[in-house]
Amino acid sequence: MLNWNQYKKRKWMFILAVPLTFLAPILVGLFSNGALPFIAFFGGAIFFLFPVGFRYITTPCPNCEQPIHLVGAFGYPFGPKCLHCGIKVGQSSESDQ
Ligand SMILES: [Zn+2]
Repeated sequence: MLNWNQYKKRKWMFILAVPLTFLAPILVGLFSNGALPFIAFFGGAIFFLFPVGFRYITTPCPNCEQPIHLVGAFGYPFGPKCLHCGIKVGQSSESDQ
């Protein structure tokens, strides 16, 4: 079963992916012009930011094994607790309060 350390790792990957997705096209834009910075941005968003973000919000809850930050098609990535069982992030189980 997944533990909170893995959840935190995924969360930090996502937090780091956001500035990297914007930084890459800026760096590319310093050395080239034309369409390349746009390609770098959309390529980074589609192939890096989106999968990392999806992996983060669909992380299964250690308590109820539902995706922590996703209910149906709606995701709220910054909530402090599981949207399904309400367990707080970092808490070991429901009975452990
Ligand atoms: Zn849960």
